Amino acid sequence: MIVQKVPISSQKIFTVMSLVVVGTVAFDAIETPFGKTDKIIGGAATYSGTAASYFTKNIKLVSVVGDDFPGETIHQFHKNGISTEGLQVKKGQKTFFWSGKYHTDMNTRDTLDTQLNVLLDFDPVIPDSYQDCEFLMLSNLMPQLQKKVLERLNKRPKLVVMDTMNFWMETQWDTLMEMISLVDVLTVNDSEARQLTNEYSLVKAAQKILKMGPRYLIIKKGEHGALLFNNEQVFFAPALPLEDVFDPTGAGDTFAGGFIGHIAQTRDISFENMKRGIIYGSAMASFCVEKFGLERLINLTQEEIDERVQQFIDLVQFDIALV
Ligand code: AMP
Repeated sequence: MIVQKVPISSQKIFTVMSLVVVGTVAFDAIETPFGKTDKIIGGAATYSGTAASYFTKNIKLVSVVGDDFPGETIHQFHKNGISTEGLQVKKGQKTFFWSGKYHTDMNTRDTLDTQLNVLLDFDPVIPDSYQDCEFLMLSNLMPQLQKKVLERLNKRPKLVVMDTMNFWMETQWDTLMEMISLVDVLTVNDSEARQLTNEYSLVKAAQKILKMGPRYLIIKKGEHGALLFNNEQVFFAPALPLEDVFDPTGAGDTFAGGFIGHIAQTRDISFENMKRGIIYGSAMASFCVEKFGLERLINLTQEEIDERVQQFIDLVQFDIALV
């Protein structure tokens, strides 16, 4: 039999590029007006990765936990298509712990405790199998660790999205500013946007943040929706009016996970597609808040997600004939 060789130049090479998610994997203790939990699984990367896993299956996690972290949760990551080769498990050390208490409006909360534990000497390792990273989600983490991950990728990803929080503005301002200048999309909530810029108006705050480096800015406003800015355009998506909001923890990370998951699935980084990403992110966040922790997020069906996205479409659709 003669086997004809196909010249390399005419071979189609299919590469499945990946979404790398970096951030905390944690224990949380949460208090809301509706109840209180002891230690439950949380962490920014846990929420972002889980939400993204409904859109794309090639997700790679970079994080660290102690040996007090349950193996079942790592197994759950695998079930969701999340690779944990870059998740370090530190013997004899404790997992990052965060505790928060929500006020009656559920839009504001106090951090009661942040124990960095394993994060204190975390040195992120990027396995070779992660070097195909096309999309990078830098979920909430110390800015210098977010920076290390970006530096340790051999090739700049197609889109780098970063989330952060007031804690890092108060403790690591300079590195945070440097990181913000390096990313494509920054996501912050409204109070963080104001804290970053000293501007009350979110439009003025957005203008200042876009001058700091990112090409796109997403401002999350909790139950009041989210705004997407670039230098020329603005888009607004409402949050779904929900009957029951039980626990807002992780809503922001879930939003970011839905957003980047959709972008990674479609591989389209246009403003128009980011608008759709905002709707998917908002839909995922609306599930997250319905129960404590990850409870509602881990067992969703495609039908439930589609139905919720449809509710968003119906919510904002109107017809006006201007004369
Ligand atoms: P969110 O409600 O979206 O702000 O995210 C809450 C999650 O972020 C919780 O599950 C916490 O474990 C995690 N978290 C809290 N504080 C920090 C921090 N300083 N850095 C990274 N992750 C944090």
